[in-house]
Amino acid sequence: MFVLGLVVLNAAITKRFEVTPDLIIFQIKPDTEVPDFSPGQYVALGLPGSAARPSNFPPEAQLPAPDKIIKRAYSIGSPPQQKEYLEFYIAIAPLGALTSRLAMLHEGDRLFMNPKITGTFTLHEVPADHNLILVSTGTGIAPYMSMLRTESSWTPQRRITLLHGARHAQDLAYREELLALAAREPRFTYHAIVSREDPAWHGPRGYVQSFFNDGTIVLDPRVDHVFMCGNPGMIDQTQKYLEAHGYTVHSKRVPGNLHLEKYW
Ligand SMILES: Cc1cc2nc3c(=O)[nH]c(=O)nc-3n(C[C@H](O)[C@H](O)[C@H](O)COP(=O)(O)OP(=O)(O)OC[C@H]3O[C@@H](n4cnc5c(N)ncnc54)[C@H](O)[C@@H]3O)c2cc1C
Repeated sequence: MFVLGLVVLNAAITKRFEVTPDLIIFQIKPDTEVPDFSPGQYVALGLPGSAARPSNFPPEAQLPAPDKIIKRAYSIGSPPQQKEYLEFYIAIAPLGALTSRLAMLHEGDRLFMNPKITGTFTLHEVPADHNLILVSTGTGIAPYMSMLRTESSWTPQRRITLLHGARHAQDLAYREELLALAAREPRFTYHAIVSREDPAWHGPRGYVQSFFNDGTIVLDPRVDHVFMCGNPGMIDQTQKYLEAHGYTVHSKRVPGNLHLEKYW
């Protein structure tokens, strides 16, 4: 454990993988055991304000207090049975207080990880014989990777469909793993869509919500639970459509078939 002023850096980067320079998969090992958690949950990561930022990033309008820890929530992408590390898929914002600092971290570098993992964006309250439609933009695919990598998500009767939208084809993280899963698992379907002009992409163009309008996804609200994660604009727009088609947002008090995780 490394203590900087009052800031405790209690975890270390064990792997850094650049999907692109501004989309990074980090594997992080806490100093203590990897805690138990449920697929879909998140944890806070942090760095002190004094942590370095890349020299080619624009300067910050306001400098954060050097010894204060900047904390943000990140969905876990690894499955609970992975006890060597927790995996995260993080978009780097050059003016973002934390991610501009996370961009500097490499294997062996230390950071803060909240010992408490939390969140209700999980499969706990979805009946075992109901299907999952997992909708994501950008790094919003992370919680679904944890779900898909976990045996208990795969009940015998359940079909799982993953929708992933990104700007460019190269931003479609985990694509090889997902294509391989779709090839070997008849209960799984994977659809990706790219919003920007991209000669490297021969699949559908547009936004992830168009899969609902163009007939790719035909929903039955009695048996299909929809999860949405990532960009709040996508979530608000799709939520309106789904609410007009028999969906209600799930909460602890009022069970529903629509589950939301907005990243900002
Ligand atoms: C429950 C939860 C889980 C989250 N999980 C993830 C995750 O797995 N991966 C991840 O990258 N982010 C995730 N986020 C967002 C994350 O907590 C931070 O908001 C984000 O990393 C920006 O932090 P920052 O300090 O760099 O930027 P700030 O200085 O706090 O600026 C925030 C601004 O950054 C932009 N922004 C925030 N998140 C993203 C994003 N993912 N992609 C593009 N732009 C963004 C928005 O414009 C937002 O207003 C999650 C948020 C929540 C609430």
